[in-house]
Amino acid sequence: MEHDYADMLGLSEYDFEKAFDSFDERSYEDTVYYSLPDYHTKLERGTVLFDGEVVRGFPKVPRTLVLAEGVPRYFSDTVYVEEKMNGFNVRVARVDDSLLAFTRSGIVCPFTTMYLRRRYGGEIEALIDSHPDCMVCGELVGADNPYTRHPYPEVDSLELRVFDVRRQESGEPLPVEERREVVDSHGLPQVRLLGVHEMEEAASEVRDTIGELDAENREGVLMKSADVGQQLKYTTSAANQDDLAFAFTLPFDYGQAFMFRRIIREAFQSHEDDTEEERRERAHRLGESILGSMTETIERVDRGETVGEEHSVKAKPEEVEVLLDHLRDQGLHLVIEEDRVEDGERYVEFVKKTQATQDKTGVYLDGKIVRE
Ligand code: ATP
Ligand code: MG
Repeated sequence: MEHDYADMLGLSEYDFEKAFDSFDERSYEDTVYYSLPDYHTKLERGTVLFDGEVVRGFPKVPRTLVLAEGVPRYFSDTVYVEEKMNGFNVRVARVDDSLLAFTRSGIVCPFTTMYLRRRYGGEIEALIDSHPDCMVCGELVGADNPYTRHPYPEVDSLELRVFDVRRQESGEPLPVEERREVVDSHGLPQVRLLGVHEMEEAASEVRDTIGELDAENREGVLMKSADVGQQLKYTTSAANQDDLAFAFTLPFDYGQAFMFRRIIREAFQSHEDDTEEERRERAHRLGESILGSMTETIERVDRGETVGEEHSVKAKPEEVEVLLDHLRDQGLHLVIEEDRVEDGERYVEFVKKTQATQDKTGVYLDGKIVRE
């Protein structure tokens, strides 16, 4: 290896050589780079080695299932509560003198790169000038989103919400207060700070906050220590059930663990929060999320329609072009449902076709005999 990545990653040569086997080789424009797509014992998933530079993966955020017990157990001091927004994670780093946007698994997304450069390039460059060796981490949120899909009333189309400024190589974060100040002073939009609580009160305060977010169909919170050394997440029932409703529209494509984990979250939240009546109500909604979604899919296939993940994107024509190429390069089969140009922007609605659900549902409908 021509670069001393082991040293940059803080690993011994031996550990680095071993870890390197788990990296994928990729390329962006004319540069070959390496990214770590899966969880690993020594390195964060999504860590990238790009032309002699390291872009550290975003750390995995643990979760508590029970606020009252989990929060005091995990934190020892003041708890900062920020909104957890539902979009896709992006790290924007300056590599080889230009801004690149990396997805959670460490892929340079050409669309996100172009889009962010256009919308926020100046602000991000200025922030990195004032904090050399740092990268900006945030969530791209909004309805016109090629990877996830959750609308926010205050977000038009697709926007960035910054939630971290970290050292590009080590991943070390700026403390919450300093980071909020830095992001704000550079004119970048950031996630909301919903409260700062003493450890003893944090769990009950967060419960109230979660109730409010749930009523607005928002995802949840990230609790953080002042130095961001500890982060803990907790989500609303609305988010858990939205995920379930979505996953069960594609029951043979989504991992069963994904679904099971969300049912477990609902059970513990019900145990912690619900009256008898609320529990019955939650059970009813949960049934709708699961059964209602699956039957909808069966009906669609029965009518001869395509099932899959529906997304939309609205951006400059060249950005949309780059996105569709990138998704197809990754082996996705796209069905374009709508494609038009409006005020210099191209709007496309497309379905990422999910073959397993399409095929299995079809053969079951045709009466395939199942031996279980
Ligand atoms: P993991 O469990 O590895 O963290 P995941 O894909 O299951 O990943 P989520 O359940 O969405 O992720 O929770 C963590 C993610 O939440 C972060 O990776 C980040 O993209 C997103 N996020 C949204 N808002 C915030 C915030 N305020 N602070 C930190 N992360 C946030
Ligand atoms: Mg998320």
